[in-house]
Amino acid sequence: MNSTYKNILILTGAGISAESGLSTFRSSNGLWNNHRVEDVASIEGFECNPALVHDFYNELKIEVAKAKPNAAHLAITKLQQEYPGQVSIATQNVDTLHEKAGNQNVYHIHGQINQAVCLNCGQVMETWGDVDTETTCPHCHIMGMMKPNIVFFGENLLCMDKVEELLRRCDLFISIGTSGVVYPAAGFVQTAKYYGADTIEFTLETTANNFLFDKHIYGKAGETFPPFVDELIKKAKKEA
Ligand SMILES: [Zn+2]
Repeated sequence: MNSTYKNILILTGAGISAESGLSTFRSSNGLWNNHRVEDVASIEGFECNPALVHDFYNELKIEVAKAKPNAAHLAITKLQQEYPGQVSIATQNVDTLHEKAGNQNVYHIHGQINQAVCLNCGQVMETWGDVDTETTCPHCHIMGMMKPNIVFFGENLLCMDKVEELLRRCDLFISIGTSGVVYPAAGFVQTAKYYGADTIEFTLETTANNFLFDKHIYGKAGETFPPFVDELIKKAKKEA
């Protein structure tokens, strides 16, 4: 493997948030905070019972607001500050732990818990407060058209033009805490590899797309990722 990279892209999934105490989206029992995923993360679920979906995300917002970034998030900040190359993040997580850790260039492909989007005019608004079926859009002033800015099943991912550009450009692709089963994110490694990137995954257990990575580092990312970052910075400084 190389030691100096010009463009590093880090894909993060539920595993990195789980180490900060936030429940993973796809737990083994198919529930998300005791709700069926179909009820709270699908367009059909939202159309059927928007009040329930709003309540769910309003509660999750409180949980996210309390959560603190862990050593893996903070190591990304260090990498961005001290590594002589570009470091970007594509995350499947809807929480804001990357931002809380001071990470820059974060692309939320599944949306963000602290945003709502108006289904009437498309305006995205940032809010940590409650959003419900009576919330008025600050842009078009229509009531009851706000949806959590979370990508539901069957909806297109966000920021994909930017992420695809980063995938083509990166020379190191790192995956942290992703299961490798949720497409299209599970296919990112393949694209990065096709364009010549080295690929590494930090994971607790063997992932579904394991064979696409050059290197696997097993364990909690909060323990395994910071020493990897230190080593990467050390090597780059030696070669500078
Ligand atoms: Zn609107």
